[in-house]
Amino acid sequence: MKIIILGAPGAGKGTQADLINKLLAIEHISTGEIVRKELLKQNESINKINDYIKNGLLLPDDIILNLIGNYLKNKKNFLLDGFPRTLDQAIFLLKANVNINCIININTEENIIIKRLKYRLINTNKNYNILFKKPKIKNNDDKTGEKLKKRSDDVLLPIQKRLNMYIKNNTVILDFYKKNNIPILNINGNETIKTISYKINLFIKNHEKNF
Ligand code: AMP
Repeated sequence: MKIIILGAPGAGKGTQADLINKLLAIEHISTGEIVRKELLKQNESINKINDYIKNGLLLPDDIILNLIGNYLKNKKNFLLDGFPRTLDQAIFLLKANVNINCIININTEENIIIKRLKYRLINTNKNYNILFKKPKIKNNDDKTGEKLKKRSDDVLLPIQKRLNMYIKNNTVILDFYKKNNIPILNINGNETIKTISYKINLFIKNHEKNF
């Protein structure tokens, strides 16, 4: 199964992707995570990548297509989160014969997204939020005690740039997949995590026969 999960930054894609991973054992591939891991490697493109991220800009195709193309090679099952973010990236997948089975599109209100991102704290595998999902001890992960961090792009200007980019591109990407007859589930991201997860599971199960 090859599934794409679309939605604005902070729409709840990562949370749902982790639940799908647990319930249906489909690998969650987050391109943002891949990019952040790349930053930990001490290579010559590190400063360039960092500048794009902290300014809320998409990485140029020569960097991202290379990274993601290599990563997706030979993968049979995945839930792709954060890619495609442009029409060119969607066309890249098509040309690389990555046959997408279905799309999950989460629509979340802009004011909720801004609060989620502005007050988000992260560690290596979990997100918190100073308003909605506080850690038990300030700035510490509940389980590991690891220090929580703020992402460099979770500040107002980069947040707005990322949202504008998403608004500009998402309709075009959805139209592309509609024209290619890929089934799309449109989900209201303001519903509870449980309700959204239930609808996504139902959708995937209904389309399983096509996979
Ligand atoms: P995310 O964690 O998905 O919000 O991604 C963090 C950052 O990684 C983005 O703001 C971009 O700079 C970069 N990035 C992730 N996915 C892509 C993509 N598909 N195309 C270009 N840049 C990307």
